[in-house]
Amino acid sequence: MIRETKATADSFTQVKRLPDKVRTDATTMFSILDAGIVAHVGVVDGNQPIVVPVGYARDGNRLLIHGSSASRLFKLLDSGAPASVTVTLLDGLVLARSLFESSMNYRCVMAFGITHRLEGDDEIEGLRIITEHLMPGRWNHARQPTSQELKATMTLELKLDRWSVKVSEGPPDDLDQDLTSTEGSSLWAGVVPITEQLGIPIPDQYVPSGTPVPDYLKTWGRN
Ligand SMILES: Cc1cc2nc3c(=O)[nH]c(=O)nc-3n(C[C@H](O)[C@H](O)[C@H](O)COP(=O)(O)OP(=O)(O)OC[C@H]3O[C@@H](n4cnc5c(N)ncnc54)[C@H](O)[C@@H]3O)c2cc1C
Repeated sequence: MIRETKATADSFTQVKRLPDKVRTDATTMFSILDAGIVAHVGVVDGNQPIVVPVGYARDGNRLLIHGSSASRLFKLLDSGAPASVTVTLLDGLVLARSLFESSMNYRCVMAFGITHRLEGDDEIEGLRIITEHLMPGRWNHARQPTSQELKATMTLELKLDRWSVKVSEGPPDDLDQDLTSTEGSSLWAGVVPITEQLGIPIPDQYVPSGTPVPDYLKTWGRN
């Protein structure tokens, strides 16, 4: 069940700086997660934090990740280590008149919690959801995982119960003095947009010539 709740900030998830950028509605959080494909997962190994990028998918009120059963990250998470997951969509470089006010436009979700391992049919369904988020249409097209491949794979879910969202958008927020000073008023300022684009698919050397690109590939896009 999708809980259309608002984030209730606790002392840990309370954004301190620039609180006007905070968004508390789950709809915004979901839209960011649905537009991204890479999550940075942080966990503490002994005294050392590590942050590992992984592909992911959102399914209702949970985030799904998968990886090698032998990987440090997945073994730590499976042992109950608390996770910090960040998804960032970069939208632009903000060139203000001062270096201090120069920044980036972004949409960012941070989620926290303990992951839960999926097994049996739940794991297969989790893998299908991840595949269909990253490569829509591919699950029914590519060979299905064997039992050995499933054994080598760990699939985890993180309930989206504790999270925060920050969105930075719009033009630079220059100081009045920089807008009116001789130096500032003659300086270009604004936003350089950043967009993510998928390129034209390149077949590998084993694809027989003339094999058409699958239809589902032609509809892929990101926002
Ligand atoms: C692409 C990008 C570039 C950035 N560049 C800089 C930079 O160069 N310098 C800088 O100081 N800051 C930068 N930020 C902002 C930075 O991510 C933090 O938001 C900022 O450091 C928050 O500091 P704090 O002390 O208020 O919060 P903290 O005390 O660090 O965090 C408190 C809580 O706020 C929430 N939170 C904090 N940051 C975020 C976030 N980004 N998204 C969602 N929830 C969040 C978390 O729940 C966290 O537990 C950048 C953000 C993005 C996405």
